[in-house]
Amino acid sequence: MAQIIDGKVISKQIKDEVKEKVSAYKAQGIEISLAVVLVGNDPASTVYVGNKKKACEYTGINSVSYELPEDTTEAELLELIDKLNNDDKINGILVQLPLPKHIDEDKVIKAISPLKDVDGFHPMSVGALSIGQPGFVSCTPAGIIELIKRSGADIEGKECVVIGRSNIVGKPMALLLLRENGTVTICHSRTKNLKEVCKRADILVVAIGRPKMIDKSYVKDGAVVIDVGIHRGADNKLCGDVDFASVEPVAGAITPVPGGVGPMTIAMLMNNCVNSVAIQKK
Ligand code: NDP
Repeated sequence: MAQIIDGKVISKQIKDEVKEKVSAYKAQGIEISLAVVLVGNDPASTVYVGNKKKACEYTGINSVSYELPEDTTEAELLELIDKLNNDDKINGILVQLPLPKHIDEDKVIKAISPLKDVDGFHPMSVGALSIGQPGFVSCTPAGIIELIKRSGADIEGKECVVIGRSNIVGKPMALLLLRENGTVTICHSRTKNLKEVCKRADILVVAIGRPKMIDKSYVKDGAVVIDVGIHRGADNKLCGDVDFASVEPVAGAITPVPGGVGPMTIAMLMNNCVNSVAIQKK
């Protein structure tokens, strides 16, 4: 039986720590504010933005909301970002993705000041991570590091395999594991002998976007298995990229879906907001 790594409990611990830091800043007269920008009314994005605002309320961070119509032009959005970049009262800027098709996401991400890039998507933030300098780190992989550490597992010297090389999960995940002194391998759709590579892993992070693809034949006995995937099955139940029923009996520790990686993303966004004060001071 594997240890179940509980993302709900760990994300609550992190939000409580953020809450304490926010109130310590308040005692010094420092308020922290996050600008949350939503363009259009995509139902999933509306839910995510709502959850982010709730987490702000819980931690004591001010959320300043900009709900723009679907037909907002790229120029109008860039103008708003410029205004927020220059507003001393705003510490973090979050533009909810995906954006409507007529807006170039890359341009928008690059327009956000790296000093306020709490999502950690700006090329400067990614570059800082890759050369080991301080900066904002993408929330999902940062949350996974917390899940691994707080579940009691060591990363240093361990064989870490990441399946997936996306800019928001796989690549920053690999860099963070490397920063923690893991021995890191990145796999993707062209990897040969995927099973053999995965079987070497002490820590296996799965971010492929394919429901239940990873079963026990990919997993070494006792490995820590982190499932980033999230899918709604035909039975309307949520599942991950890992076949939990198959892997749980052989893994040493495993994250469930839901209740594993998912809740960590917003907790780490709150953590990035509180860290923004120190980053902006520097
Ligand atoms: P992407 O689709 O951007 O990347 C998927 C990666 O998996 C690619 O690098 C791809 O390789 C690789 N891949 C696809 N098929 C295979 C295969 N058969 N064998 C090996 N590698 C394969 O996905 P994301 O990184 O954005 O997300 C991954 C999953 O995590 C999704 O289910 C997503 O919904 C979920 N997610 C969950 C979050 C959370 O908060 N819980 C946050 C973000 C994502 P190649 O590059 O060669 O195409």
